[in-house]
Amino acid sequence: PYAVTDGCIRCKYMDCVEVCPVDCFYEGEVMLVIHPDECIDCGVCEPECPAEAIVPDTDPRAEKWIQINARYAAIW
Ligand code: SF4
Repeated sequence: PYAVTDGCIRCKYMDCVEVCPVDCFYEGEVMLVIHPDECIDCGVCEPECPAEAIVPDTDPRAEKWIQINARYAAIW
């Protein structure tokens, strides 16, 4: 799956949310997260993010954010 990273904090442009075909973004007070079990890895959200905050889980930048996305997607 893809994960939202720190570039999203206080950005929230929401363009990514609009293009996601499975609606797997969840919105918190300061950022968005992606539900890892719902993401189908299509990649269409990645270029939509003006902060370049969305990365695949294979990207080193995703490392600590994978868990954060999973945890908060389950409760938001
Ligand atoms: Fe949604 Fe596709 Fe982005 Fe996953 S990769 S969050 S399915 S738009």
